[in-house]
Amino acid sequence: MKGAVNWSDYYKTDPKEISEFKFAFKTNQIYGMGLMPVRGQKGFRKLDYEYAERELNVIEVMDKLEKHHINLLGLVIKDTDGACIWDTKVGWNPTNRDILGEFCDAGNDRSIKIMVSFTSMNDAYQGAIHPERVSIHGKTGKKSGILYNKGEISTHEEGEMRIDLPEGVLFKDYKKKVPFLTEKIDLKKGKARGTRGKGYIPTTSFMCPNSKHVDYLLDLTREVVKNYSVSSFFADYIRYDGAFTDLCCCDRCKEKFNKNYGFKAKLLKSHEWYDFKSETIAEYAQKLQTVIKDTDEDCTSGWFCLPGPKKMLSQKRLGQDWTKLSSILDVASPMEYPYLMGTRDDGWYWGKVGNLFYWYFTRNMKKRIHEFRSPILAVTNSVECNSKEMLKQMRRFDFGLGIAVFKYYGTSDAQWIALKKYAEEEIGLENLN
Ligand SMILES: [Zn+2]
Repeated sequence: MKGAVNWSDYYKTDPKEISEFKFAFKTNQIYGMGLMPVRGQKGFRKLDYEYAERELNVIEVMDKLEKHHINLLGLVIKDTDGACIWDTKVGWNPTNRDILGEFCDAGNDRSIKIMVSFTSMNDAYQGAIHPERVSIHGKTGKKSGILYNKGEISTHEEGEMRIDLPEGVLFKDYKKKVPFLTEKIDLKKGKARGTRGKGYIPTTSFMCPNSKHVDYLLDLTREVVKNYSVSSFFADYIRYDGAFTDLCCCDRCKEKFNKNYGFKAKLLKSHEWYDFKSETIAEYAQKLQTVIKDTDEDCTSGWFCLPGPKKMLSQKRLGQDWTKLSSILDVASPMEYPYLMGTRDDGWYWGKVGNLFYWYFTRNMKKRIHEFRSPILAVTNSVECNSKEMLKQMRRFDFGLGIAVFKYYGTSDAQWIALKKYAEEEIGLENLN
């Protein structure tokens, strides 16, 4: 095929790990679709618990996936708001429904595997009820209009999601249910593609990865892996907040840093500090891996990775060391969303932006894919792009084990037709079943 990339020129896979991967998922090729139950029926710019509670039709979703030959559902069981959509004794479930349990039952009936996506450090609800566990700014600054001061917690207005009050419910009553709601309202859709929501603005928090928040996450993980037939457990937001460079400077982190690197090592801008960040995230990954495997050794672990420049993004901001993390967890999942940055459907200019990012994401993977020490399953977007762009990404970022697509709500009718055809003609049904 014209312009095709042969990824095996850039990255060598271990045949034993690949066969284990295929055995774990009972298929040659993964064909995954993501679903975010708390973000309503369109796109992902809303936070809508009422939809998840009353309208989300699990059987309808699973029938549609089966019809389109999807063999893995990536279910976001904990999103950045912090809601836990299963029968939980540990977490907060505002949907009053065991959505994960319903999907697991329906998956067993249809031989669709359930992979859960579990947002880790970004947690609006925990930030509201445990401000002492939120990460702390190490300097004073300004970012996209947000002012913050040294020593303050990193709880800020959410950039992406907005909330509508359910009919007949007053703000003050809804705030009791959703404590991270603010009285501020966005009446117009934002101009930037990242700020397209309308409605009440919630806050969001990145929690300190050296706080008790980690124990809370591990308790939730144990509960899910023990009580549900999930084939795989993937950690999302297994990182620091990428928007700021000065997190986390709480007393816990500073003390640990000084203990490990000595009092001479510099906070914030030194290679010791960046090492400390990536070690902190890797420590969480190791704890997660231990809990998952001790609870169910057949459950595959994984993590979502943000592509981008190694030094400026992965090391300095996120604390994601691809080699370390992929040596600990079973599968790495880079999020390849170039056409989320711009689509031809929004006009010529945005089409060019999307193409530019497609080129950049490809180049970034060519440069960095060798850093991975595990099988790779990429996820790419259907939401907010057209069929042609979607297929282009799916072909490009299949690293040999299949592809996952983000996400169910927001995929157009034309894209569903294209997805079915792709399964039948390009992957081959014999590889999917
Ligand atoms: Zn901290």
